[in-house]
Amino acid sequence: MSKQQWLRGLPAVSDILETPDLITLRQRHPHASVIDWVRRAVESCRSDVLNGRREGLDDWLPLIIERIHEERDRELGTAIQPVINATGILLHTNLGRAPLADRAIERVVTAAGASNVELNLFTGKRNHRGEQVVRLLRRLTGCEDAVVVNNCAAATMMVLQTIAAGREVVVSRGQLVEIGGGFRLPDVFRAAGVILREVGTTNRTYTSDYEAAIGDQSGAVIRVHHSNFHMAGFVTEPSIAELVAMRRPQDLPIIDDLGSGWIGDLTELELKEPSVRDSVRSGADLTLFSGDKLLGGPQCGIILGRTQWISRLRRSPLMRAMRVDKLTLAALEATLEIHLEGNAAGEIPVLAMLSTSAQQVHQRCQQVYERLGKPSAIEIVSCQSQIGGGSVPGSVLPSHALKLNTRHPDRLASWLRHGSPAVQARIHDDALLLDLRTVPDHQCVPLADRLHTLLQQEPSEDLGR
Ligand SMILES: *Cc1c(COP(=O)(O)O)cnc(C)c1O
Repeated sequence: MSKQQWLRGLPAVSDILETPDLITLRQRHPHASVIDWVRRAVESCRSDVLNGRREGLDDWLPLIIERIHEERDRELGTAIQPVINATGILLHTNLGRAPLADRAIERVVTAAGASNVELNLFTGKRNHRGEQVVRLLRRLTGCEDAVVVNNCAAATMMVLQTIAAGREVVVSRGQLVEIGGGFRLPDVFRAAGVILREVGTTNRTYTSDYEAAIGDQSGAVIRVHHSNFHMAGFVTEPSIAELVAMRRPQDLPIIDDLGSGWIGDLTELELKEPSVRDSVRSGADLTLFSGDKLLGGPQCGIILGRTQWISRLRRSPLMRAMRVDKLTLAALEATLEIHLEGNAAGEIPVLAMLSTSAQQVHQRCQQVYERLGKPSAIEIVSCQSQIGGGSVPGSVLPSHALKLNTRHPDRLASWLRHGSPAVQARIHDDALLLDLRTVPDHQCVPLADRLHTLLQQEPSEDLGR
């Protein structure tokens, strides 16, 4: 038989839709989606024949039904749903970075209906969007003024464009970084319409290098935190305080792109990370950081600075395009309140994960292990958690994990990702690890339930010692 004859045996989309096998699928999903999956399933069978991967079948239907379900599963794998993060990476960009504090989640829910984003309920007058957030940021960091945009990338773009378009921005060669996802500083400079003026060398830059480069054509000086790599050895670069103190025109702004948003000296936590408060205290004209890294809030970019510069940003036409919505403002407001109350390590998940000791993680592992009846297929091992999200490069936290003894870590990881709640594990040295530093106590029972099901249904040759 020829390929064309084989293809003639393929059922029509309308006939496939009528089969009883698809009744449940059609009840659960929009018609347009089901039709799309059916078409794709038929198309994949057709191309299998055309490419010689398969011959014709007497009955195509079972294979097509299987592929329709695959299409559905692949698509719904991207539909947003809760995930238990057992990777041990605190700020996991693929898992939405910082999980919000309960109080921030509640605030998002209450703001979701009609809410006074730009209305002072006391006076009945209109106010700036985010005015309350600005007040909280002032109290928390000592800044003069602030604006909030979509993310720190937007903050960098907007600041460069508004403050220095058409002029030179002086930056150390050692700081021309790629943040990730193709966000490379030289490209950002180009897109913002500013001219890159590199100074110093990869490993050493002095204030005198900056001073020599500053002139009539300068629009700003920027310091960019090396958020995702670590430089050691014969390395020097000026601090923000030294940049502020160097010889320069009075009105040439110093921009500090911090990225990670470590507030600093609020909790007992010690991190080798430049802090927002230090940046403001040192006299940076503008300090930029993300809302969803170590601040532990929603995705946004926070710009702190002198009123002179912030009011220019507020008036910029870009502001309208970059501004955040009420859900973000609500979550940010609640997160900042928690920081101000001094209870960040207690209430903000990322900071709670940071401040959990290795011994506490071990206890958590022990509880899940005992709940499962101490199965031989699982053991508790020590491991290392990472902060992630481009924060505190090179630093790891001692931790503990449940290790599943299996010959098929990829298959079990895939099983854990499917099903509800989804669990994202870590594969390390061919072993499947569940690092419980990033699994808060309230998620331990649902996690144990998923593991219980897994242990019951896995054949013993795949799982066990
Ligand atoms: C993470 C980071 C950014 C980007 O922040 P987003 O909020 O992800 O856009 C920019 N600059 C630095 C230094 C960073 O660490």
